[in-house]
Amino acid sequence: MRVVLLGPPGAGKGTQAVRLVGRYNIPHISTGDIFRKNLKEKTELGLKAKEYMDKGLLVPDALVVDIVKARLVEDDCAKGFLLDGFPRTVDQADALETELDKLGIKLDAVINIEVEDDILIGRLTGRLVCRKCGATYHATFNKPKVDAVCDLCGGEIYTRDDDKEETVKNRLLVYKDQTQPLIDYYTKKDMLKTINGETDTDTVFVKICKALE
Ligand code: ADP
Ligand code: AMP
Repeated sequence: MRVVLLGPPGAGKGTQAVRLVGRYNIPHISTGDIFRKNLKEKTELGLKAKEYMDKGLLVPDALVVDIVKARLVEDDCAKGFLLDGFPRTVDQADALETELDKLGIKLDAVINIEVEDDILIGRLTGRLVCRKCGATYHATFNKPKVDAVCDLCGGEIYTRDDDKEETVKNRLLVYKDQTQPLIDYYTKKDMLKTINGETDTDTVFVKICKALE
């Protein structure tokens, strides 16, 4: 199964990705997670990406595309993969297609999770993430059982730097300008499956699985 999860920030891509990779036994490739890991390790890539991430801007295509290309040829991707947060521009989507053509493979589907802006802002400004395992919580709707401690691994829970309200608003504008055109792009290729992401996480998961059948 080779799938792309598309949708605005806060649509629930990461939340659903964790479940989908468990179900389909494929690796979860999140470019945002790759940048955050690099930042934690203070690599040159991480420090460069931070300049853009902190402002809610996209990291330049040149920095993103090569990372994904290198990841897709790793052994664990042979049986499939789930791309979360990539592609985010038409140029990235073109580069992905060229790379998959070279490898002689095709995407099975692009899942587009739709959620209104007001809901997205509420979700992102309340989002809490485990530093250790990446599990996602919400300060109001989905609190961890013990304050600031991950239910799953006991890791420390934090708020992402780019989940401040001002940055969130900018990320939504950037999404509309640079990523939303991919809806048309994949519709024309007859690959897009749109899912209402405003219902509870279990319902969204069931709908995505049905769309992938
Ligand atoms: P994305 O990866 O698309 O940016 P996340 O999966 O991190 O989004 O979800 C953003 C926030 O919204 C998190 O706090 C998460 O717990 C919450 N969330 C995700 N899906 C839903 C849903 N269907 N209903 C309510 N809250 C959700
Ligand atoms: P995410 O974790 O998907 O919300 O991504 C967090 C941030 O990482 C984004 O706001 C961008 O700054 C950067 N980023 C992640 N994926 C990409 C991508 N495919 N292209 C450009 N920037 C990205």
